Amino acid sequence: MKITILGSGTAVPSLQRNSSGVLIQDNGVNSLVDFGYGNLRQLLNLGVTYHDIDRIFFTHNHPGHVSDLIPFLFGSRYQLDARKKDLEIIAGPGFQDFFDKLMLAFKHWLKPTEYKLNISEVDEGVRDFGKLKVQVGKVKHIAMSRGYRFTND
Ligand SMILES: [Zn+2]
Repeated sequence: MKITILGSGTAVPSLQRNSSGVLIQDNGVNSLVDFGYGNLRQLLNLGVTYHDIDRIFFTHNHPGHVSDLIPFLFGSRYQLDARKKDLEIIAGPGFQDFFDKLMLAFKHWLKPTEYKLNISEVDEGVRDFGKLKVQVGKVKHIAMSRGYRFTND
């Protein structure tokens, strides 16, 4: 398992630190934990594009944790090089409603054209995602907040 910090900053714009984001690469699968602003460019620096992300875990939906999802979804529709790989989003209860409203706000501009997007809301417990075992737990912040512990054995 290779872990790369894409952003460790806050919601305050900074040239030193991006907003929250972590890339977890395991057995050829690219997972993100949060997708704050600056993360997309940081991924490009690593040679990882919008085609390469398999799964995104969101800790919660504050802007510093979700904002690069918007250009990611928009770019994934790019007619000349549309994303084809299905995308899975995992987040706490309430994320689906937030996501639906986000999609509505941007009309059709974020809707997948050539891939499927599946959202799973998780509460607590252990779930398997391929070879990754993920323990999900509530985190004190907002009701939707979840923490994730990743193990591979
Ligand atoms: Zn927050």
